[in-house]
Amino acid sequence: MSAPLSPTFPPPRSAAADGAGAPSAEPVVRLEQVTRVYQQDGMAVRALDGVDLAIARGDFAVLVGPSGSGKTTLLNVMGGLDSPTTGRIWIAGVETGSMSKAELSQMRLHQIGFVFQEFNLIPVLSALENVEFVMLLQGVPEAQRRARAMDMLQELGLQGLEHRRPAELSGGQQQRVAVARAIAAEPVIVLPDEPTANLDSKAGAALMDLMRRLNEEKGVTFVFSTHDPMVVERARRVIRLRDGRVESDERKPTAQAGRP
Ligand code: ADP
Ligand code: MG
Repeated sequence: MSAPLSPTFPPPRSAAADGAGAPSAEPVVRLEQVTRVYQQDGMAVRALDGVDLAIARGDFAVLVGPSGSGKTTLLNVMGGLDSPTTGRIWIAGVETGSMSKAELSQMRLHQIGFVFQEFNLIPVLSALENVEFVMLLQGVPEAQRRARAMDMLQELGLQGLEHRRPAELSGGQQQRVAVARAIAAEPVIVLPDEPTANLDSKAGAALMDLMRRLNEEKGVTFVFSTHDPMVVERARRVIRLRDGRVESDERKPTAQAGRP
């Protein structure tokens, strides 16, 4: 299970950060006093209410909190799908508030990997074509695109299923295709929103183990939202939201150190 990814894949970050200490590199995403206020039936809903947060390269973090606490909104503003009402966000060191709409969509295309709860695969495309799709938009040449997509599908245990359409795959397999699509495009950060919500517990655990391996072996940065205790248990950093605020933010000791 250790077939190499494409040679262009970002190298793993050094395993410098030990224990509870935060990695020292520049954050992949940084939020400063971010609010997001929605108008709903003439009422202002503060979905995010003064969030300060820095996601470090190599983080494997989970956002938890009750329904309506702002998890999806936070993932959307972190990935530039939505803009904050006030406050500032930097993605890979660039402030998003200074970008035009076109620049924002280019930034999303090249820097962010979204994985949606409902998978959002394109039904008329095969697994392979779905994984190639983001790279196609990025302008990656066909041969390289195909090779990277095949590598990713194999890496995620989907070899032999490349030519199936989403409807011919199980929920767990579809979600793995969605992860492959996000990762093959080599984003700086992957943002799965409740990735295990539509999976049975076995498929959910397998998906988490796989993402954890991509994090540990390839240095891919992940921030998930979830309600699922199994996902929280596997995270290395737990960010709790309540009413649009960060209630707590804790790093766990590294896996190698073990937990009691
Ligand atoms: P979570 O993902 O934790 O369940 P959300 O980020 O979806 O929370 O929602 C946070 C709050 O913002 C909720 O009160 C929700 O009703 C509100 N909200 C989210 N999206 C919208 C929207 N597009 N329009 C109006 N209100 C919204
Ligand atoms: Mg949500």
